[in-house]
Amino acid sequence: MTSQTYDPNNIFAKILKGEIPCHKVYEDDDALAFMDVMPQAEGHLLVVPKVASRNLLDADPAVLAKLYPVVQKLAVAAKEAFDADGVLVSQFNEAAAGQTVFHLHVHIIPRKESAPLRPHSGSMEDPAVLARNAERLRAVL
Ligand code: 5GP
Repeated sequence: MTSQTYDPNNIFAKILKGEIPCHKVYEDDDALAFMDVMPQAEGHLLVVPKVASRNLLDADPAVLAKLYPVVQKLAVAAKEAFDADGVLVSQFNEAAAGQTVFHLHVHIIPRKESAPLRPHSGSMEDPAVLARNAERLRAVL
């Protein structure tokens, strides 16, 4: 069984430390938002708290209280930026529930009636597309 502790070398911890790049959308003292590299729909982004939490199950409620207003702000921005019909907000806890990166993160996925959801952790998007979509989001914030 996998140890359910926080691994400080997970990929989002490395993004937070600036050790690997991301297409940044938003940052404040408590949260960072960036494009998902394997988007399930155009404009799919992730919001992470800066504090180390593995997922919702171990997170300090005070961290969640600061994170979710950012999730809301970015969900509204995503709907506008991508002219979406709706926005899917999802968050997985442990591998059995679909979690693959073990730093708490919230998915924000703009949805259009006409566009089926692509598979989770499917195919890598062209970095130029991710850069353009991050810019579209920043432009409406
Ligand atoms: P989870 O299954 O843990 O909820 O989702 C992890 C998400 O992170 C997936 O949607 C996956 O596409 C995305 N992802 C995995 N590695 C990277 C990465 O290095 N950079 C970014 N921006 N997203 C990643």
